Amino acid sequence: MQKTGSDITKEVFIGGVMNKKLVVVKLGTSVLTAGKLHLNKPRMVDIVRQCVELRENGYKVVIVSSGAVAAGRSQLPTPIGNSVSEKQMLAAIGQGQLIHQWQSLFGLYDVPVAQMLLTRADVEHRERYLTAKDTLTQILKHDVVPIFNENDAVATAEIKVGDNDNLSSLVAILANADKLILLTDQVGLFTADPRSNPDAELITQISEIDDSVKSLAGDSGTSLGTGGMATKLQAAQIAQRAGIETIIAKGSETNILVDVLNGEALSTRVLKFNAPLEGRKKWLLSGPKSTGTIICDFGAVEALTCQGASLLAKGIIGVNGVFTRGDLVTLSDSDGKVFAKGLCAFDNQELEQIKGLHSQDIAKQLGFGLSNVIIHRDDLVMFNS
Ligand code: GLU
Repeated sequence: MQKTGSDITKEVFIGGVMNKKLVVVKLGTSVLTAGKLHLNKPRMVDIVRQCVELRENGYKVVIVSSGAVAAGRSQLPTPIGNSVSEKQMLAAIGQGQLIHQWQSLFGLYDVPVAQMLLTRADVEHRERYLTAKDTLTQILKHDVVPIFNENDAVATAEIKVGDNDNLSSLVAILANADKLILLTDQVGLFTADPRSNPDAELITQISEIDDSVKSLAGDSGTSLGTGGMATKLQAAQIAQRAGIETIIAKGSETNILVDVLNGEALSTRVLKFNAPLEGRKKWLLSGPKSTGTIICDFGAVEALTCQGASLLAKGIIGVNGVFTRGDLVTLSDSDGKVFAKGLCAFDNQELEQIKGLHSQDIAKQLGFGLSNVIIHRDDLVMFNS
């Protein structure tokens, strides 16, 4: 795809020298409330002080702040339940207070802030994604601190990201960040639950998030999963594929942000994959939701993984889900291991008819010739680069 002039400017600014020092800091509700029911001002002051210090050391800081629901809850005199619409109401009440707190605390240092509220729909469409990226570029160019949250009040189940860990990885891609720091109430990921197992060890570095790593996070609310370690690993995996390092660390530690960036904090670091992805492929990782799966034979997996090939009909052995032309689909091998994502040039019914065929037989089978390639290399993101 041809880049437009404004695309190129954006990438030079966000993707040039500056991104080496661009960090996205995600603050969970437990960090911002210090485990209580209200926003904890001293905690927020301390985070602001550290962000200002980072800025003085040449970093650009982007914040993803939870806490709207908690802030909303603390403002109402009567207890409120946990239904979706009640939480949406609380977010609508609390978001104003949340941004006001950030604004007044950063204001102590004469640092302006900007509120950015997103849903998945805002990153799913390429044009809206680029608009959000444009706005973010301007915010950063003017040395303002962008503060992101999910636009909970209007986010229906279909369009919401759902948790701010995943949202922060999408923001990190949008910002072309170098690092994503997930501050939480735990030091990082452990080999077992440190609260019940004295032999549990902190995993300080992860190079690949495979099933054995995922199993350590457990389900939400149990063992190490409390504090949402599973969603943190999901976020780290998205970031890793986009060439962004993720650090999971404890938000209550003094000077944690500065120490993390100096490599001096106890934490879990998820290393980035090295092959840099061009902008459009990063968007493919963060943006559209996959609506189907194409199962590839061994030869196709090999050609796509090792030879930089496009996907041809010949290598397809199965098709799951319902999708139309241009939709995002996942690619898996015959054992169900997902290894890539890409924009498919055919819908699922057409693929059912042409799977396994040689390219030259596609037009005859379908009665029309669209393309010989099912997913072009330029529309494909591999997961293990
Ligand atoms: N957006 C929610 C809030 O501001 C938080 C969601 C999350 O922490 O994952 O309260």
